Amino acid sequence: MSLVGERLSEMPQAVLPMERLAIHQVTLMQCDFRASIECFARHGVRQTAVWLDKLNAIGTEDGARILEDNAMSVNALCPGGLVSGAHALDMDAALEMNRRWLDHAAGIGAASLVVITGGLPEGETNLFAVRERALEGFHRLIEPARASGVRLAFEPLHPMVCGGRSVISRVADALDFLDALNADDVFGLAVDSYAVWWDLDLAASLRRAGPRLLHFHVSDWLRDTEDVRFDRGMPGDGVIDNRRLRKWMEDAGFRGSVEVEIFSEKNWWRRDPDDVVRTILDRRAEFL
Ligand code: ZN
Repeated sequence: MSLVGERLSEMPQAVLPMERLAIHQVTLMQCDFRASIECFARHGVRQTAVWLDKLNAIGTEDGARILEDNAMSVNALCPGGLVSGAHALDMDAALEMNRRWLDHAAGIGAASLVVITGGLPEGETNLFAVRERALEGFHRLIEPARASGVRLAFEPLHPMVCGGRSVISRVADALDFLDALNADDVFGLAVDSYAVWWDLDLAASLRRAGPRLLHFHVSDWLRDTEDVRFDRGMPGDGVIDNRRLRKWMEDAGFRGSVEVEIFSEKNWWRRDPDDVVRTILDRRAEFL
């Protein structure tokens, strides 16, 4: 690369425009469905990803009405899948759940259902067999998803939760999964910076993903995290260069939104929701 090219690639990325900012509903775990959506709208945030537990608490019809009343568009419903793990001792039951989640997703106008594989079932130690099982489960979701018009956004998770949440950790391995599924009209990728920031091959894998990149979730990895699932940091408070990752996503052709998704039992879930959203808006200028 020429010197000029290098300098250009080091130039700071443009500030993320408001119309490309989404905040996942789970970021405001302290709120019920309505309060979280109204809080986002109050601050001019018009995109979210709906959290299944919150939707189940009020039902799809009421949820859809609240979203519409607040002119909120829905990038995704989270999380689905879970076809490999303890949730899926009975594969047919797991697939039936996913069909229901696809209906809910369609009912609230969500573009995607985010799917994770699930982890290893109780007593199981054959990781390879579980991966095969997850692949089979996803395969059987292709037709129902196609019929519902909702995309399936496959999200690999951090290797520390391989046992319990996702038997696929790297973007490259997720892409191998999508290759095997061979259904790009249905399946794409949800990239979560918290899950994949450590991967030395990440930039190359994102380039390989190209048009399969559907969603980009961000938060931060706190240097001395106390809990790999529920101690996520606010962008800017940890070690993830989310803006660099966004550049890699965009270099690969991604033009979607940046979706802030924070699980934080001890900190952000205990704060005043308006402060949480205000903080995200402040961090947008430098860290998203
Ligand atoms: Zn995520």
